Amino acid sequence: MTAFKDLGLASEIQLALDELSYSEPTPIQEQAIPELLAGHDVIGQAQTGTGKTAAFGLPLLQYLDPASDEVQAVVLTPTRELCIQVTQALRAYAEHLEIEIVAVFGGAPIKSQQAQLRAGGQVVVATVGRMMDLMSRHSLVLTGVRYIVLDEADEMLDLGFIEDVEKILRMCPSGRQTALFSATMPPPVQRLAESYMYDPTTIRITPKTLTVDAIAQAFVEVSAKEKPDRLVELLRAEEPEQAIIFCRTKIGASRLEKTLKARGLDVKALHGDMSQGSRDGVMIAFKDHRVRLLVATDIAARGLDIEHVTHVINYDVPASSEVYVHRIGRTGRVGRTGRAITFVTPAQRDEIDRIERDVKTSISAWETPEERLEHAPPPRRRKRAEPSEPTEGDGGPKEDAPTGKEQNEDAAPEKQEDEKGHDTVKLFVNRGERSGITEEDLRWALREGAVLPEEAIHDVRVLQRFSFVEVAPEKADRTVEFLDGTKLKGKEIRLEVAKS
Ligand code: AMP
Repeated sequence: MTAFKDLGLASEIQLALDELSYSEPTPIQEQAIPELLAGHDVIGQAQTGTGKTAAFGLPLLQYLDPASDEVQAVVLTPTRELCIQVTQALRAYAEHLEIEIVAVFGGAPIKSQQAQLRAGGQVVVATVGRMMDLMSRHSLVLTGVRYIVLDEADEMLDLGFIEDVEKILRMCPSGRQTALFSATMPPPVQRLAESYMYDPTTIRITPKTLTVDAIAQAFVEVSAKEKPDRLVELLRAEEPEQAIIFCRTKIGASRLEKTLKARGLDVKALHGDMSQGSRDGVMIAFKDHRVRLLVATDIAARGLDIEHVTHVINYDVPASSEVYVHRIGRTGRVGRTGRAITFVTPAQRDEIDRIERDVKTSISAWETPEERLEHAPPPRRRKRAEPSEPTEGDGGPKEDAPTGKEQNEDAAPEKQEDEKGHDTVKLFVNRGERSGITEEDLRWALREGAVLPEEAIHDVRVLQRFSFVEVAPEKADRTVEFLDGTKLKGKEIRLEVAKS
């Protein structure tokens, strides 16, 4: 597998990636970064969640000249939300470079943006409308632009910006490098690429390899009338840490928000009838985890990178398989698993078959977490069985499982050996499948929370009510120190050294 250091990135950029704990490039990064660094135009068919921002952002930052204050790179985005998100990401990637990144977008005072531009910025991240406005006021000069990115080009098309995008492209020097990212390639976007890009390399991250593999998908067949009740029931059963509930229309979203609020749920809506200010407020509250449930329309939520969303619920069946992938791509982000649940009326049952076919995925009827556990495959058996350990499905002590405390009362931590003969220390974790914890989650916590290298993590086993992890002996104390009492999937976890 390629590492970031093999991609030819500058050491300052590599350092920023280390600090962000990006350990290896995502597929779009692996493929696009070398092409862009080699100076080629690139079409990236990929959407939010694939790591596309770093895919175009890192090569862009690498070639800027910090000594010149001119605008050297422009990233065009369809929405204000995406504009802000891309700016934040680029600023993080440029942490150790002397590069200024200016965001210009509608709905905010143009004067302060003009002042920022006058102060000098090598990169401008802009929404199309505000960019046009600033150009017409001569506040933005594009003669020094060497690099232009069109992010989410299909969304720009949907929002009616494509002609303005063409005007902007025509204002940029012809020798520039162009990158175009789009989840889909409708004909007008293809034509745009043909007219304004030079011999582009196309990199396609298909929906299959996108994110849906990491996402458990289910459907609920329900009549339109019963949808609110089923949704409340489902939310109570699933206990999502954070969920986005997608509605087709603004009216539907606003109505559902009221219904859920009336049932005592902590929910906020995000749709186009709200003022920009209140949309921003909702977004920030959701990102800060102050709101658990978001009812949104596709347009309002488009392009958003919302981490840690555990559930996406399609309250209204998505209009196409592409929209489906786009919506559910918001869960199951890099290294995490998520759950996507789609409501269909009996008349819409065929829609699920169509999505399954298009996305080459399997969507089964929704089961409650308890039902899922009953149907879960038995855990992997290990070669060296340890009889004193509780195992699932053996009718043994699973319901009255020993807590770490009881186990440890009079026992010193014991070193063990894993299957490969490594010394390990086994730690008891007080949460298991019942709390929605998966092996992937624990591995993530060990890597990200306890900052353990992969080779220090020897085994992770998730049982119904608790789990065991085996780590290198010298990392055991630190693992307990870093993770004990922290939250995983919204649940407090306790860790202790287990007795064998
Ligand atoms: P994007 O598709 O650019 O919106 O990125 C989706 C999410 O993945 C963002 O939260 C990024 O910070 C994160 N991300 C991007 N590249 C990587 C990587 N190589 N390793 C880990 N996380 C990443």
